[in-house]
Amino acid sequence: MRKRILVVEDEARIARVISLELKHEGYAVEIVDNGKDAINRAKEEKWDLILLDVMLPEMSGFEVLRRLRMEDEQTPVILLTARNSVFDKVNGLDHGANDYITKPFEMEELLARIRSAIRVAGAAQEKKNANTVKILEDLEVDEGARVVKRAGIAIELTRREFDLLVFLLDHCNQVLSRDQLLNEVWGFDYIGETNVVDVYIGYLRKKIDHGFSHPLIHTVRGVGFMIKGQKHEH
Ligand code: CA
Repeated sequence: MRKRILVVEDEARIARVISLELKHEGYAVEIVDNGKDAINRAKEEKWDLILLDVMLPEMSGFEVLRRLRMEDEQTPVILLTARNSVFDKVNGLDHGANDYITKPFEMEELLARIRSAIRVAGAAQEKKNANTVKILEDLEVDEGARVVKRAGIAIELTRREFDLLVFLLDHCNQVLSRDQLLNEVWGFDYIGETNVVDVYIGYLRKKIDHGFSHPLIHTVRGVGFMIKGQKHEH
């Protein structure tokens, strides 16, 4: 079946070019030019990906994303941004975007990121359907229910923290580089801004290690990070 992409872009010329390219690649495409329509169309139908411009009239792309994520954590969203500050990238990813691309961009790069985001989302969905509970020492992670407990205490994680934890657990007792984590958890090459991994490892540590008997997440100097311990799977 053809993958369906919702393009949210108010600049008609850019929207038209993107739409033509995507159709040429075999995607079914619909364009909306404002946040309100974007939210409505996102709710009304199922999309394989949403390409969302940040600079929209009235409601910004960030706001659209925030509202989308209140109800739908699954559909991959790629932000189109004209800005290029670290703050905006982290801000967008924190709001639950899967990737972003800075204008002006090469069409080939956009297409590659779209393929990557759809692939990562598909893999995540498959895993979710498998519904396994992973146990490492006194840490329990139920992937289907997205529930995390340590020593029996429920811990609330954001979507990104959860994905990062699951990836660490899937590769427990292995050292993972920042690049690897970015590629696999964020799903793209996040060139130059690898400190986002350190930031999220910090968040995870605060939630799953601080205040418990011993740390599970370890920093391997000069290499990356690992989660360490005895693992079981149910
Ligand atoms: Ca715009």
